[in-house]
Amino acid sequence: MDEDDTLLCVLCQRSEQTKITGALSTKDDVTAHQNCLLFASALICRNTPQFDDLFGFSVEDVLNEVKRGRQLTCNKCKKRGATAGCEVGRCKKSYHYPCAVEERAEIVEDVTKEKYVLYCYKHYPKTQGHNELTTPESLMQMGFDRNRAEMAVAITGNQGIELAMDWLKVHENDPGTDEPVGNVVGGAAVTQSPTDEPSIADPAEGKEEADTTIKAI
Ligand SMILES: [Zn+2]
Ligand SMILES: [Zn+2]
Ligand SMILES: [Zn+2]
Repeated sequence: MDEDDTLLCVLCQRSEQTKITGALSTKDDVTAHQNCLLFASALICRNTPQFDDLFGFSVEDVLNEVKRGRQLTCNKCKKRGATAGCEVGRCKKSYHYPCAVEERAEIVEDVTKEKYVLYCYKHYPKTQGHNELTTPESLMQMGFDRNRAEMAVAITGNQGIELAMDWLKVHENDPGTDEPVGNVVGGAAVTQSPTDEPSIADPAEGKEEADTTIKAI
């Protein structure tokens, strides 16, 4: 290969050095981005001083990873050499590292544990996030409307999303299930008392308040 003019990363075949890819480093005619190395699924950083000009990776390891990547098609650009795979074992999604970032994969870096993994957008473990969804919220994300979702959760005693979903499936076509939870009569399993709910503020009230604030100023 006559690519002496432009150095290309052996892992992603790109030459630009960006915030995403990190810097390029070359050793023994092997050039790679720091992040492409870190996130290549089968590459382990050996951190031995003699390898330090490839960010702690051994040239041999990198070449083996390139070989492995020849079988792997990138989910984003459809080219081969996709060595950055989704951390979920059964998931077959692989990317070039920069492609993964462009595809909005979730990047998880744990520098202290030297753990660099990515999850395709489907598999990011949401429980790690700050905004864990409540059961009704999860149901709403699945397309159920709020009243039904809340009622299903209340009636099944908040025993988990599966029970609530079963209930929703069974009662899908029930008339009256679009009524708010508070109006449900009967059903011994209803644990949520309507008084727990903060009353929804009358929009008119809000307006009045706003007006007085303005006057006060
Ligand atoms: Zn690269
Ligand atoms: Zn790609
Ligand atoms: Zn995945």
